[in-house]
Amino acid sequence: MEPHLDERINPDNRAVSPNNNAGGAPAGVSFTLHGAGVAGGIAIGRAHLVSTARLEVAHYEIAAAEIDAEVARLDRAVAQVRAELVGLADSVPAGAPTEMRAFLDLHRMILDDSTLSQAPRDHIRAQRCNAEWALVRQMELLAEQFEAMDDPYLRERKADVQQVVERVLKALLGTAHAPTVPSDETNTIVVAHDLSPADMILFKRHRFAGFVTDMGGVTSHTAIVARSLDLPAIVGLHHARALIGEGETLIIDGRQGVLIVNPDRQVLAEYQLRQRELALERQKLKRLRTTPATTIDGVSIELQANIELPQDVEQAIEAGATGIGLFRTEFLFLNRDDLPGEDEQFEAYRNVAQAMAGKPVTIRTLDLGADKTVNGADRIGPNPALGLRAIRFCLAEPQMFLMQLRAILRASHYGKVKILIPMLAHRHEIDAVLQYVRQARDLLDAQDLPYDRDIEIGGMVEIPAAALSLSLFLKKLSFVSIGTNDLIQYTLAIDRTDDMVAHLYEPLHPAVVSLVAGTLRAAAKAGVPAAVCGEMAGDVALTRLLLGLGLRQFSMHPAQLLAVKQEVLRTSLADAEALAARVLRCDDPEKSRHLLARSGA
Ligand code: PEP
Ligand code: MG
Repeated sequence: MEPHLDERINPDNRAVSPNNNAGGAPAGVSFTLHGAGVAGGIAIGRAHLVSTARLEVAHYEIAAAEIDAEVARLDRAVAQVRAELVGLADSVPAGAPTEMRAFLDLHRMILDDSTLSQAPRDHIRAQRCNAEWALVRQMELLAEQFEAMDDPYLRERKADVQQVVERVLKALLGTAHAPTVPSDETNTIVVAHDLSPADMILFKRHRFAGFVTDMGGVTSHTAIVARSLDLPAIVGLHHARALIGEGETLIIDGRQGVLIVNPDRQVLAEYQLRQRELALERQKLKRLRTTPATTIDGVSIELQANIELPQDVEQAIEAGATGIGLFRTEFLFLNRDDLPGEDEQFEAYRNVAQAMAGKPVTIRTLDLGADKTVNGADRIGPNPALGLRAIRFCLAEPQMFLMQLRAILRASHYGKVKILIPMLAHRHEIDAVLQYVRQARDLLDAQDLPYDRDIEIGGMVEIPAAALSLSLFLKKLSFVSIGTNDLIQYTLAIDRTDDMVAHLYEPLHPAVVSLVAGTLRAAAKAGVPAAVCGEMAGDVALTRLLLGLGLRQFSMHPAQLLAVKQEVLRTSLADAEALAARVLRCDDPEKSRHLLARSGA
């Protein structure tokens, strides 16, 4: 039975509002939730509730005669996982983090403990349920016990138990990790409490209508991957997963960050109309694909693409990108139990370099840590965003870093490859990076392997300290790229992944505008190319401001590229500079937003 709206609303959740349902909802009570729109557009579809992308398992009863076979099925899966773990421990590469082997040993111990190897067998017999369900049931019992523990180390082992269970589930299903998906994907809107960037990347294989999550901010990596899927999405809805029922009709208005649950017929019809109009607008934009991005005054602007996986390069080419301004290589390391070795990485980077046929391909070295972690190397730390992340992690794992540098250098022989280093803040970090690049080159020279000897090495400006001491970067590096997502996170002290502070994300905060402006000014003065590759670069509302501040190289998700190009074509730099000067003098983001909106009218 459909719960009454009052029962579904958490009294604290001011983001929920009931809708006037006079038109008569097709089914269920109509209400609206407000969150942060991640990607524009409108999606209409049926809700599909996802707990985590990986642990959706079937639950069914079995006949008494099937019990032994079901227990044997579980035993086979456990034996298969045991063999996998032994095999993985034997093949840990030399460059792997030291914890990796210990982590695999720990998982083997968990697997062999009777709480996992015996208890689910007992559940199958007692409950007559399938092996997957028995396993998940046992995992939930264990999770409760771990949560009740005082010792923080032991409490954290809950995640290890979950990972082991996931492995066994995978073996039971006989397939790779994959969320269960309804048959009509294109009519489905995924509703989740939280999705990790690793979960999100799995959705690249599917064609859902849209996504909504309770957690997350607009520049969390989960949101960034959602945006790269070019689907309407909203994050930070707080209670969507609890309030929405499977199969209910949903409308996502990505631009407004509004989710309408069980819309009435009139609302549905209005949104269907708007959806068709938007599709038409997008179709029209495609005509700009081969048009050079030039301002009214004839200045040529580079519009490059951000990618997460090598196959994303197709979308970049399709959108007419003039290069890859950011290849987030860490996504090659997620959703797997081993690490990609040098040859595998080399092939991935070479494929992108070759596909771009001489256009620049900026390969960022691993930005692992914080919300993107590899099995066995996830040193979460008390404050992950401020912890051992990105270049800090790589410098702590030199073998892993050297392996990647070698792979990138080898790929540089096949196109115009550049190396980009994330999260630099200190002189000694830049020096250490350059030293490792020299070492990687020496190793390739010793093997007579070809690479581009003039390869450019650049640094990301994403920590305020970097923006404020840019001369360090400009002296030692060939280019800089401003990562506004992190620059905003660290300037305004708001965790990108925390929906509780997502409303404080403000690209027009005077401190942010001033750091971006200062970086572009200093780089131009030193004659060092500077790009912006954070989400600000793909926000059409900010295109004029960035042009006026002196930006000539943007990098963004391919889906945003043509809309930004349209904005560039409509802009006169003289006007944009005057506008930027006004925004720089403005201490109120709302007023700045107003100024920018008026300038585009
Ligand atoms: C950024 O921080 O702006 C950036 C481009 O890097 P990422 O979003 O991957 O942290
Ligand atoms: Mg960043």
